[in-house]
Amino acid sequence: MANMNRMVDPMAVTWSERYNKTFERVWAKLPNFLGSFIATAAVFILGSSIRGDWLLILVHFIKYLRNGQEDETNSTLSSEGQTLYGDFSLKDYKLEGLPYYILPAMTISYVTYLGVGGFLHWYYYVRQRDRPEEWKCQPTKWLSPELERHEILLGSLSLFFGSVLSGIISCFIMNGGRTFVYYDYADYGYVWAVLQWPAIFIWQDYLTYWGHRIFHTPFLYKHFHKLHHTYKQPTAFSVTAIHPVEFLFFQGILISPMFLVPTNWITMIVLLSYTYYHGIIDHSGINFKAYWWQPWQPNCIFHDNHHQYFHVNFGFNIKYWDTLHGTDRKKDRLYREDIFYGQGKSVDDATEGELAQDMAERESENPLAYDNNQHAYELKQSDLKTSKKNK
Ligand SMILES: [Zn+2]
Ligand SMILES: [Zn+2]
Repeated sequence: MANMNRMVDPMAVTWSERYNKTFERVWAKLPNFLGSFIATAAVFILGSSIRGDWLLILVHFIKYLRNGQEDETNSTLSSEGQTLYGDFSLKDYKLEGLPYYILPAMTISYVTYLGVGGFLHWYYYVRQRDRPEEWKCQPTKWLSPELERHEILLGSLSLFFGSVLSGIISCFIMNGGRTFVYYDYADYGYVWAVLQWPAIFIWQDYLTYWGHRIFHTPFLYKHFHKLHHTYKQPTAFSVTAIHPVEFLFFQGILISPMFLVPTNWITMIVLLSYTYYHGIIDHSGINFKAYWWQPWQPNCIFHDNHHQYFHVNFGFNIKYWDTLHGTDRKKDRLYREDIFYGQGKSVDDATEGELAQDMAERESENPLAYDNNQHAYELKQSDLKTSKKNK
């Protein structure tokens, strides 16, 4: 079976393929529920640790145990001068012991990215490769081996920057640097304890929507964001495969609340984990759907559509922004990499050739990835004729 699949679909992550038989043997011995539990846990762990933010969690936990006391004199880590260049001292910036934060952040990031990302790859893209129509958003199209390598290399480069940034912030907080992070919900009253959840979530997601939309204007798109759009069929490895400038920009939006408003550490950690978890899910290329308790959350296919059609569906965790600003995908429009600004082109104005190309794109989508397992953007010849007649 494996040989037959190899011909159909040339996948690139050969290390996960090479050990397929061994994985398969171990997997077969696990009871079914355990298997799906591991798969879910793996996605979650990857999501919450991918950018070194597990370190932020740890730092906050330690500070929590210390009752959140500002501890400016007794650093637990080395307090040797750490003078690097002349008068520059890490201590002046509350960054003493910085390497002790950055190095572990990096190690864990890479081990998790390759380990868990590899696991997911094997679980769906290798193990269920012969039946992509059951789980894949674009069942007939696969990322080329070159692009698989490309996204893993680029994704790893971003992890490097992400780990450095997380290390710096963790170190800063640990050394008593000023942030608005607090530890007891009672400190700012229970109204804010409840309100901060939607407030911070909406703040992060709305800014991310606009940031992403602005990165889709011609200049910024060509120079930065196009890189992330090399992957027309994204996978879990694509999530951090973006230009470093852009990566730091979005990371900045996500951590901005703790420098602006009183943010309880639990709120921050839960929201960051939620965002990272969905970053993985939404890039996985697998037909994951939102749960009943998250009516604001689009299905995975929403961002998969963004990769397939480029300048449309700019939102991430709240689907209403695109509806509100008219940049959501519409059935009677076609979208391509050279049609900017989220409005697409009316199918009535399209040439025969453009239409044929667009129809083929639409047909390559998996209906199972949509609500009620029904393709939401299917266009039939009859639809076209009526739409042209009405005009
Ligand atoms: Zn984009
Ligand atoms: Zn993306």
